[in-house]
Amino acid sequence: SSSAAAELLNGVNAKALLDSVDAFLFDCDGVIWKGDKLIDGIPETLEMLRSKGKKLVFVTNNSTKSRIQYANKFRTLGLSVSQDEIFSSSFAAAMYLKVNQFPPQKKVYVIGGEGIVQELQHAGFTAFGGPEDGEKRAQWKSNCLFEHDKDVGAVVVGLDPDINYYKLQYGTLCIRENPGCLFIATNRDSVGHMTDLQEWPGAGCMVGAICGSTEREPIVVGKPSTFMMDFLLQKFNLSTCRMCMVGDRLDTDILFGQNAGCKTLLVLSGVTTKSILDDPSNQPDYYTNKVSDLLSLI
Ligand code: PLP
Ligand code: CA
Repeated sequence: SSSAAAELLNGVNAKALLDSVDAFLFDCDGVIWKGDKLIDGIPETLEMLRSKGKKLVFVTNNSTKSRIQYANKFRTLGLSVSQDEIFSSSFAAAMYLKVNQFPPQKKVYVIGGEGIVQELQHAGFTAFGGPEDGEKRAQWKSNCLFEHDKDVGAVVVGLDPDINYYKLQYGTLCIRENPGCLFIATNRDSVGHMTDLQEWPGAGCMVGAICGSTEREPIVVGKPSTFMMDFLLQKFNLSTCRMCMVGDRLDTDILFGQNAGCKTLLVLSGVTTKSILDDPSNQPDYYTNKVSDLLSLI
């Protein structure tokens, strides 16, 4: 984290920021939208940045959708964003296995939503669990073993609205009975905005459950881990000193940008209020109310 106090964005530093970067990485919830509602001024601002030749990338920790589903969401909200510009933590989980040469004959057990299953299958992996185990019940009886597939080589955990004791037992057995089994977390956000009205337990809740039963720590592939950053840097051939990460959380987005050496802009249109900047040891480079301030200041 930077020791200099965050600067409020103004006409002078906004112009300098724009001149100093080639790419903007945008967090989604709290920055582009809140739940299913577009935040004010986003279409015009993204258009302005594109017209100035800036590369735009969208990085979300929300694993419930696949990149295809996110591309649809952007389109529904009237934004033209292609699948290649979207990096979700569901996609990151699949790419982590790919990059680390996870054997395709091994299987992946999912505690999470459809987005994770889709991305894993799209990458060619055999994934099961997730929504299809949503109605299952775990029952213990004397002399009766809970069976699990010994070919599972990774358990991926993300936000799971149908979490149950069956899935917890399945994932726990896979990990505890095979020390080589990977334990991957899409992200560890404590809460998420399912709608723009209210916060709900986030993936950190499900990940914490599996940490508790396995006594293992997960490999986290979403923000603030460097995995997604390294992956997208390689893909787009970007240089971090010419990039700005825009987000609404210090502990995921701003840290993600800072870990990589990007410039950072905190927006107050999401979960964070200005008082978070009272801590001088944890400061983004800039802060402003919302992304579209870039448009009015320039
Ligand atoms: N995870 C879940 C389940 C969410 O609902 C959200 C936000 O709504 C997030 C994570 C955070 O997403 P983002 O990284 O786009 O802010
Ligand atoms: Ca966010």
